[in-house]
Amino acid sequence: MEFRRFAEAFDRLEATSKRLEMRAILVELIRPLRPPELERVLYLAQGMLRPEYEGVELGVADSLARRAVATATHTEGSVVARRAKQSGDLGTTTGEMLSEVRRLEEGPPLRVADVYSEFTRIAQASGPGSQDTKVNILSELLVRATPVEGKFIVRFVLGTLRVGVREMTILDALAEAFGDGSKATRAKIEAAFNLSSDLGLVANVLAEKGVDHLSEITLEVGRPIRPMLAEREPTLGEVLKRMGGRAALEYKYDGLRVQAHIPRSGPVRLFSRRLEETSAQFPELIEELPRAVRATPAIIEGECVPVDPDTDEIQPFQQVSRRRGRKHDLARVQAEVPVCLFAFDVLLLAGKPVYEKSFPERRALLEEALTPTEHVRLAVQKVVSDEREAQRFFDEAIAAGGEGVMAKSLAPGSAYRAGARGFWWIKYKREYTAGLSDSIDGVVVGAFLGRGRRAGRYGAFLLAVYDLKKDRFESFCKVGSGFDDEQLAEMPKRLAKWETDDRPKEVETELTPDRWFRPQLVLEVRGAELTLSPIHRACLGAIREGAGLALRFPRFTGRFRDDKSPTEATTSAELLKMYKSQVRQETAPSSPNGN
Ligand code: ATP
Repeated sequence: MEFRRFAEAFDRLEATSKRLEMRAILVELIRPLRPPELERVLYLAQGMLRPEYEGVELGVADSLARRAVATATHTEGSVVARRAKQSGDLGTTTGEMLSEVRRLEEGPPLRVADVYSEFTRIAQASGPGSQDTKVNILSELLVRATPVEGKFIVRFVLGTLRVGVREMTILDALAEAFGDGSKATRAKIEAAFNLSSDLGLVANVLAEKGVDHLSEITLEVGRPIRPMLAEREPTLGEVLKRMGGRAALEYKYDGLRVQAHIPRSGPVRLFSRRLEETSAQFPELIEELPRAVRATPAIIEGECVPVDPDTDEIQPFQQVSRRRGRKHDLARVQAEVPVCLFAFDVLLLAGKPVYEKSFPERRALLEEALTPTEHVRLAVQKVVSDEREAQRFFDEAIAAGGEGVMAKSLAPGSAYRAGARGFWWIKYKREYTAGLSDSIDGVVVGAFLGRGRRAGRYGAFLLAVYDLKKDRFESFCKVGSGFDDEQLAEMPKRLAKWETDDRPKEVETELTPDRWFRPQLVLEVRGAELTLSPIHRACLGAIREGAGLALRFPRFTGRFRDDKSPTEATTSAELLKMYKSQVRQETAPSSPNGN
């Protein structure tokens, strides 16, 4: 396929915000394609070269891209920089500059395969001289590109595609392009994606063999499965009721979720909740897991928490987050803050998938397969059938350093549901008991300049929740408190690459911050209560016409949720549920006659 078709489709995608139209454009684009072109187009459309979990990055900075544009258009780097500053987007500037260059002869058109392989070469370039290599590859591509192609090439390498097409929209398009578009087909496609986390692989099987062969896609060591997620209930009584009066309760450890892939031989690999590889952060787990888990190849899941080496007590989460992205003094941090993985599930054992078995069966398998070691242990569990017993276990969990309990269904149908949130798992945290609502994971979509002590920096941030159905980010609060100086100083650096001139079209709010950002950074906040609001757009009209939901007295907890992608932030539906359960508590009669 000519790359021009891809670039033009993207131009059209950018011009619409309607999910149905986006789907139609995508269907038209991908229907004629077959592997390997199909998978490449799908990865490119999401701003990636490979499935996300492989972590392939192009490593192209603004300055490098500007050099390539200058070379390709025979101008000075300073001219490119000035024009990009004016337009606010180097991609747009590239398109404009390419259209001003008079070409001596038209070369053969760029094909998707060419662009993809050149991007791959850019990603692979490393070591001394790699910056120059990248500039050369990119400028040669740009020389061959039409203006609209150049615009998207530059945006792609910078990671600033305005429309990164979301997974859900691609799944819809696949069902229509290669299936009958029915709900059942869509569900099969999504199930295959949840197991493999690889849209390219799913699309290939679908296009080559058809929907019925998607069941051939199953778990594989080294390819992470999308995590099963929990619902919440406001009281332990309601948790038990939901579960039919009896449930397995486990400590809810407050750390980082780890999916451990243990091959029969060769290195163990760890993946985060977001399916990014975190192996390098936890050498002690890599070393011990092969000894702790019999019956490999295996995939187990657990929560990784810091443990005091002297007392064996669980430490606050913040300690483990110090390890994120560390390369240099990891050994020191490892000695100071060793971690322990508390295993709570098993998905593959002795090379066989076991995720479809009921939870009690999986737990029995896990207990049998795991020989606890210093750094790998079993999550503490108890099966309970009355509320008092549940309360006692909850108190025990809190005393042991947990943040609450996870209730797990014992029903025959309690299979591991990859990528799904449901009542098979219910989380119940300490805050509910204090009458406060749960924390909320909000996505930063804007910033307000600070005053007074915060002059010259950002003073507050506009946060949004994610509306899954509409595929939109809707504002629910402006948060300024809870940040320490270091975190505040870090914010501009963290946010710079997502800054845009205008409100991103997937963002809904009535507020106009001083800076807009594409929704990427997820922060955990708490607040006093949820109230109706005329300016925030979360759950607009769900409670009262024209009103959205807002969080009162929001406060950053200090926790950057780098382990969550923006679409994994708190959803509007969850926010609405939190609002309703809060109302229910408020209006509950305090005495039999309702006073
Ligand atoms: P969610 O994962 O539900 O979107 P979240 O990432 O903010 O939300 P929580 O609300 O704290 O996490 O609850 C779910 C998480 O709890 C799991 O993803 C897992 O990391 C963690 N967890 C701790 N202990 C357990 C356990 N025993 N069983 C399952 N999950 C556990």
